[in-house]
Amino acid sequence: MSFDYRGKTVGVTGAASVKGIGFAIAKKFLESGANVFICDLKEDALQEAERELKQYGNVKSYVMDVSREESVKEGFRLALEDFGYIDIFVSNAGIYPQAFVCDMEAGQWDTVMNVNLKSVFLCARECSRCMKEKGGVLINAASYAALLGSAGSGAYAASKAAVYSLTKSLAAELAPAGIRVNGFIPGVIETGMTRGVIDSKKDELEGAIALHKLGKPEDVANAVSFLASEEASYLTGTFIEISGGKLCVQNPDFAWKQTDLAK
Ligand code: NAD
Repeated sequence: MSFDYRGKTVGVTGAASVKGIGFAIAKKFLESGANVFICDLKEDALQEAERELKQYGNVKSYVMDVSREESVKEGFRLALEDFGYIDIFVSNAGIYPQAFVCDMEAGQWDTVMNVNLKSVFLCARECSRCMKEKGGVLINAASYAALLGSAGSGAYAASKAAVYSLTKSLAAELAPAGIRVNGFIPGVIETGMTRGVIDSKKDELEGAIALHKLGKPEDVANAVSFLASEEASYLTGTFIEISGGKLCVQNPDFAWKQTDLAK
C-alpha cells in the first residue's frame, strides 16, 4: 500500500548508505510525494545518496552528527530554512559495535549511547519545538536486541532498550502537542550493518526466522510509511516489528522441519 505524502516534509537520519534502511525510508517517502531531507555523518556517501534519490523527488541533505547537540540544532535550522516545516521525522541513525560489555572502554560505551540514544532525545526535542503549529509524527529505530539483550553487543542492546522506553515516554509527553511517537523493530535486515554477520552465518539466521528469509530495507520502509500515515492516527507509543516472525515463537525452525507444507 502506498500513502499520499504530497505537501509533507520528512526528515530521516542515517540515510547515507544506499543499501541501508534510512535510504529506503527516504526513497519510499519521495515516491509517495513528500519533500525529504536526509542527514548523516558521512558527507561523501550523503551526497551520493542525495544524487541517487533526486530521481524520485525533492530531496536535500545535511551533514549531521546526531550525537552532538550543536550539529543536530544546525541540521534542523537548515531544514526549517529550506522547507519551512517538518511533518514527519525518522530517527534511524545507529551504530552496532560488537564487543563484550566488560571489555569496553568507558568512551566506547558513551559513543554507543550518544549515537543510538541521545540522538533520539536531541532530535525529539528539536521536533517538539518545530512541530508546534500542526503537530507531527516521530518514528524511532529500535531493534529486537532491545527486547532480548544481546551477548557480544550488550551496549547496543541497552541503547535500543532505552530507545524503546524513551519512545513510550515521548509519546505521552508530546500527545498534547498533536505529535505521535512510535518506533520500529527490525529483525535481521540485509544492510551494511549486518553484512558481516550475514556472510558468516546466513543459514543459521534464516533458520531462526519463521518466514525463513532475511528482511530487506524496503520491508522496514513500508512499515514506517504506514506508521507516519493517517491510517495510523490512533497509534502512539507503540512499535511495529519487521522481522519475518523472528520473535513469535522460541522454535521458528520446527514447522519447516516437521511439515510437508514447505514449498
Ligand atoms: P547502516 O549502517 O546501513 O546505516 C546507519 C547509518 O547511520 C549510516 O549511514 C551511518 O553513517 C549513520 N550514522 C552512524 N553514526 C551517525 C552519527 N553519529 N550521526 C549521523 N549518522 C550516523 O544501518 P541499518 O542497518 O540501515 O540500520 C538503520 C537503523 O536500524 C539503526 O538504528 C539500526 O540500529 C537499526 N536496526 C537495524 C537492523 C538490521 O538488521 N539492519 C536490525 C535492528 C535494528
